[in-house]
Amino acid sequence: MTMHQIRNIAIIAHVDHGKTTLVDQLLRQSGTFRENEKVAERVMDNNDIERERGITILAKNCAVTWQGTHINIVDTPGHADFGGEVERALSMVDGVVLLIDAQEGPMPQTRFVTKKALALGLKPIVVVNKVDKPGSRPDYVINAAFELFDKLGATEEQLDFPVVYASGLNGWASLTEGDAGEAWGTDMQPLFETILRHVPAHQGDPAAPLQLQISSLDYSTYVGRIGVGRVNSGTLKPGMDVLVCEGTPEEGGKTFKGRVNQVLTFEGLNRVMAESAGPGDIVLVNGIEDLGIGVTLTSVDNPQPLPMLKVDEPTLTMN
Ligand code: GDP
Repeated sequence: MTMHQIRNIAIIAHVDHGKTTLVDQLLRQSGTFRENEKVAERVMDNNDIERERGITILAKNCAVTWQGTHINIVDTPGHADFGGEVERALSMVDGVVLLIDAQEGPMPQTRFVTKKALALGLKPIVVVNKVDKPGSRPDYVINAAFELFDKLGATEEQLDFPVVYASGLNGWASLTEGDAGEAWGTDMQPLFETILRHVPAHQGDPAAPLQLQISSLDYSTYVGRIGVGRVNSGTLKPGMDVLVCEGTPEEGGKTFKGRVNQVLTFEGLNRVMAESAGPGDIVLVNGIEDLGIGVTLTSVDNPQPLPMLKVDEPTLTMN
């Protein structure tokens, strides 16, 4: 089933630089919203702090489909790190969009997340946002981004970042600068195209043994514990028996058997039931109560677990 194209990205932005507004536009312009659906909900902002054993602040992910390509947008905490959560969120993506206010420039608070993204080898796309604002200074912002990346140890390839100018509020993006006081573009197409061109599609074999690492946890009173992660390889189906591996054998990882109940994927701001999920898909799975962060769900016959993802326990625990 998973023959569709997928891109997985994270948007890194300082608070107020326009992430929510921009994501709303991407949802709207990709037709992910039905006519009567309320876009104004600003669900990405609705970060109720959900704590699972004191270590997880759940990210609000969403997805848009543009010209047949499913783009998962993984939410990252803006500036703080809770027990390695930034790394875990970034472990699900193949590219990052660094959204910067055209007037303010990069803020120190986004430095941490940007540094992690660069260290993971992700190639950022720089979006200079709010270029409609009087006093916007895109050239300064691009230079400042370059200097920041350079200071953070970016590679030549990472320093050669694509730039998109945008006014999320007015719903347009452009690859070139225009005149102050005028619209530089007509829609978000240049941003969608830049994402498709510069973010690599996840490579994985749907026929290979299942490998799905759980990057974060959620909970619902109806289905219990929910694991969120990206299918690395293989195919996941509802009702499937899996082996839950707490790291590799070299790490002394314990394993236990479990049965996946439902498999869900992101569509717009919703989570929808899927009949199967393949390499690159970001999924939610439920049915396994003892699921922990960083474990790998593998096929029972041929388990190939990934090393445990890092979780620093003490960050939020009080005891
Ligand atoms: P977030 O905190 O990064 O999610 O930022 P928001 O999307 O909530 O936007 C913060 C503020 O900036 C709001 O008042 C928006 O209306 C405003 N804003 C967002 N995008 C633009 C833009 O492209 N141009 C202008 N002029 N204002 C914007």
